Amino acid sequence: MDEMTDRVEDEPLMLTPGPATLSMRVKRAMLHDYASSEEKMLATIAFCRKYLLDLCNGQGTHTVVPIVGSGTSGTEATIGSFVPENGKLLIHTNGVYGDRLIEVARKIRTPYASFRTAPYTPPTAQQFEDALTADPAITHVMVVHCETSTGIFNPIEAIAEVCRRMGKSLLIDAVASFGAFELDAKKLAYDAVVCSANKGLQAPPGLAFIVAKKAALEEAKGNAHSLTLDLWDQNQHLDRTGMFRFTPATHLLLGMAEALREHAEEGGLPARQERFRRSWRRLVDGMRQMGFRTLLEDDVASPIVATFHDPPDPNYSFKKLYDGMKQRGFIIFPGRLAAANTFRIACIGVVTEHDIGRALDALADTLREMGVTQMGRTD
Ligand SMILES: *Cc1c(COP(=O)(O)O)cnc(C)c1O
Repeated sequence: MDEMTDRVEDEPLMLTPGPATLSMRVKRAMLHDYASSEEKMLATIAFCRKYLLDLCNGQGTHTVVPIVGSGTSGTEATIGSFVPENGKLLIHTNGVYGDRLIEVARKIRTPYASFRTAPYTPPTAQQFEDALTADPAITHVMVVHCETSTGIFNPIEAIAEVCRRMGKSLLIDAVASFGAFELDAKKLAYDAVVCSANKGLQAPPGLAFIVAKKAALEEAKGNAHSLTLDLWDQNQHLDRTGMFRFTPATHLLLGMAEALREHAEEGGLPARQERFRRSWRRLVDGMRQMGFRTLLEDDVASPIVATFHDPPDPNYSFKKLYDGMKQRGFIIFPGRLAAANTFRIACIGVVTEHDIGRALDALADTLREMGVTQMGRTD
């Protein structure tokens, strides 16, 4: 066991943007069997809902609806539950996860319009205003907070301000950022924020949580396209009985609750963000020193994941880099279509600045073994 982070040492450390490496403590918390209606299970669910609500300052105005499934189940439940048949959703995209929202809307036949902006620069409030002015039928806007395919942060406050001014409901995919970045329910006044267990919250994958404005959720009765993904129904059942409608992911909920206690003990949101920032700074500085180029300028990048251009060296292949890093104890991620010829290294999970230092050494070692000397920087 690694003393500092209490994890199994011979398992590679995942430097991937979800699922994230869990602490041994979170894994151990799952070694128990409980029936759905047992007191311990009800208390666990209530604790998770309250913790997440407090985390985004949602007391009174909002409620937290947990569902079984990955982050995409959360976005699908949100689109299906909140946008009524006679409504219309405007989806912004500048990457893979924005594209996925469009795919969800198309698949479940939600009326929608979409607009795309450049992947390397954040959209402006004016672009949202123009899109909304062009189509008065739009009732809801959905946007990704941290677009994990590149790491870019979209300007959520400015977008929320446009929605408020123009009377549109705001839905946010904050799957990557929730728990490490502020998404204040009162300030942003969103109808819904989607988060999942397995990214910044460092809990096991398989649960999604939707922070929903109570008034909007009341109005959402009967909207849902799906039985299992009906947030209104799941919420009223939880409020009445404390239980999921169908079998809850009992072990995952135990892991989630432990991960949230860990989050609190670390110092809550500010401390989590600070750790990610320190790791990310070390990573980006170290990679630049080696000669790598980042996809994004630092001022628009989130410290959740960093994207690097592939070295132009003919000896480079991502497969060899991946294998070499895995042999040395680290899992890294390929780039996505939004940014071809790149690879990504993430800072979430039980990862410290010290681990990033070791990963940089492993990377330098792997590149040496591959015979890669040109990393792409020409200055
Ligand atoms: C990870 C992620 C999702 C959800 O992906 P799943 O594969 O369903 O877990 C959605 N949006 C963003 C921004 C993400 O980072």
